[in-house]
Amino acid sequence: MKKLIFSLFLIPAAFTAQKTVSRDAEIANYVSQVSADSLKSHINKLVSFGTRHTMSSTTDAKKGIGAARNWVLSKFRNYAKNADGRMEVFLQNQTIQPDGKRINQPTDLGNAIAVLRGTDPNDKRIFMIGGHLDSRVSDVMNAKDFAPGANDDGSGVGAVIESARILSQSKFPATIVFVAFSGEEQGLLGAKMLAEKAKNENWQLEALLNNDMIGNNLTSETNLINANQLRVFSEGLPQFDLDKKAQGIRNLGLENDGEARQLARYIKEIGERYVDNLEVKLIYRNDRFLRGGDHTSFVNQGFSAVRLTEFNENYDHQHQDIRKENGKQFGDLPEFMDFEYFKKNVGVNVSVLANLAKSPSKPENVKMDVKELTNFTTIHWEKPKNGEVAGYYVLMRETDSSTWQKKFFTKENSMKLPYSKDNYFFAVQAVNSSGNESLIVIPSVK
Ligand SMILES: [Zn+2]
Repeated sequence: MKKLIFSLFLIPAAFTAQKTVSRDAEIANYVSQVSADSLKSHINKLVSFGTRHTMSSTTDAKKGIGAARNWVLSKFRNYAKNADGRMEVFLQNQTIQPDGKRINQPTDLGNAIAVLRGTDPNDKRIFMIGGHLDSRVSDVMNAKDFAPGANDDGSGVGAVIESARILSQSKFPATIVFVAFSGEEQGLLGAKMLAEKAKNENWQLEALLNNDMIGNNLTSETNLINANQLRVFSEGLPQFDLDKKAQGIRNLGLENDGEARQLARYIKEIGERYVDNLEVKLIYRNDRFLRGGDHTSFVNQGFSAVRLTEFNENYDHQHQDIRKENGKQFGDLPEFMDFEYFKKNVGVNVSVLANLAKSPSKPENVKMDVKELTNFTTIHWEKPKNGEVAGYYVLMRETDSSTWQKKFFTKENSMKLPYSKDNYFFAVQAVNSSGNESLIVIPSVK
């Protein structure tokens, strides 16, 4: 009886904690355009190239990675027709030589890219979505056999194409880049090539959403089904320049507040705002245990990049030769994907990219007062460089909370709160009149 009273007490409390959901109608409309049928046709087309292995043919018109990337480029070019000359489509490619690892012949490595330029010439921000075009079977060097790669990573490329289809019809102040990477399975080679270009050309790349396997709902062996959660992997301590940053991170206790982790929190907030029946699950590591993905090439160069991946992985249907054993089908075939779940995960990408590209840039010179010991927390900032600003949110959370718990709105450029900075983390973001928030800034203490 005692136990029953306890649970009755808890249940109403959970139901009374209301959360206001306020959607920008324009973004809700983009998300509603994500179509399971459209995604299915992208996947079937990708599978039709036989193999998309990085070392497969780049000259055959119908089979191999060359035909596949030409098809992706042709989809981009089609969407560019709606974009009044703002969408530039190109192949970034380079011949790479055998590396003694997973490349054993001279290979034409190529990323298919579309750049939807922002309408504000002063706004240099770039937001990127990526997935990898290349596929494989059991032997990672086998460039000949049927490697459908429907989910790994047809799903990521499908998300890229579907996002381009929907977002290319609209104008955003900031730039969105759509990429189908090559060479992922051979050592993240295409992503490395683009991350280096972004670094060398000083791109103001503020976020990469790397989608790698977002369309399967079932675990192998344990048979768990989950079509309601999407994982976002983000690094904790930064790979880039950690030696320079470690002391500051330690002094302020910011080991859970790197830029990739903040991006992951942003994806959770926005994705859950626009996509129903989906929880975005933050995973506190850069990638799955002992494994990697294309975002890693970007975090290694100091960019904010995260990996979006289905909650459950099925090892019978990734990196497998297509075969039947004891009546059981192995291989990465479309029939093992859940297109309704896939559609929700693409909706997360579309909503986050649109919210970012519409938002003002981050507030400038965000500083916390630390001249004297006080139980108040005072933060000052200056207006963002770009975008229309309706006001600012000061975000607050307890030190052991994974996500922001409160947002205080103000039109001013400072806020004084009766909460001790010993017990809470704070951040500031700008917001426009449509409710599109910038990425956050952690106040500096200098
Ligand atoms: Zn993959």
